[in-house]
Amino acid sequence: MTELVVISGKGGTGKTTVVGAFAALARDAVAADCDVDAPNLHLLLRGEVVERFPYHGSEVARIDPGKCTSCGACARVCRFDAIRSDGEVYSVDPLSCEGCGVCAYVCPVGAISMEERQSGWIYISRTPYGTLVHGELLPGEENSGKLVSQVKMRARGIAREEGARLLLIDGSPGIGCPVIASLSGAHAALVVAEPSRAALHDLLRVARVARHFGSRLFVVLNKVDLSPRLAREVRAAAEREGMVYLGEIPYDEGVTAAQLRRRPVVASDGPAATALREIWGKVRKALWN
Ligand code: SF4
Ligand code: SF4
Repeated sequence: MTELVVISGKGGTGKTTVVGAFAALARDAVAADCDVDAPNLHLLLRGEVVERFPYHGSEVARIDPGKCTSCGACARVCRFDAIRSDGEVYSVDPLSCEGCGVCAYVCPVGAISMEERQSGWIYISRTPYGTLVHGELLPGEENSGKLVSQVKMRARGIAREEGARLLLIDGSPGIGCPVIASLSGAHAALVVAEPSRAALHDLLRVARVARHFGSRLFVVLNKVDLSPRLAREVRAAAEREGMVYLGEIPYDEGVTAAQLRRRPVVASDGPAATALREIWGKVRKALWN
């Protein structure tokens, strides 16, 4: 099974459009949406959730009132003001607790335990194009890198069970912890860039991170006609960096129309769909020939 992760320097560059098109064209892929801060691949692919699992990404302190002697030591050390007291009864405000565990460490009578806290969900969906796994953090929750790793683990297991040839990952944007988790273990990374100064800078940063993992690096330039001059610069930079330049997607209003209809763009026949079909052909060759 080959693992291909699609990433971008920032959100909104068309990463999910590319993943949705590849999922529709591949036919034998399992997809994973690792953009857990803003997952939307399940919307584009019309996923129907068939199973979900709670994701525990952090801990919360709990005071056992039967053991607590009201010494106040825990409230004195909590830097997050998460321990409430009326002078006699001590309790933890779960919304303020950061799960650092210091209170449990200092409690002289062992009245505080650390419990797992649900931070999100992992969903498995059936789509017309195959199985999709995606994660979603609950509002205010952090540590999305850990959720990305768990989404990938589930997706890998399903891909193996189904005998899928490809695990297609919609990675997180940027170069932070979630994108590092998206890239780990991937055979190849495809960067979706736009012709802009910021995208050029982002491309080089993302390339450095991806190279660290030893993944093969592909580049696709989206909305290429917005600036032909910058498009040439991005292409030259990608080639200088040893990335494989796979092609360009023109600006096409059909992309938004397809998204509104919740269809992958390759379900229609506009210029972006044609470009994506060609790019998919090159991806297949690069991965399996
Ligand atoms: S440190 Fe332990 S015993 Fe003291 S107030 Fe906190 S929970 Fe109660
Ligand atoms: S775990 Fe940390 S943040 Fe939570 S109540 Fe204890 S000391 Fe405060």
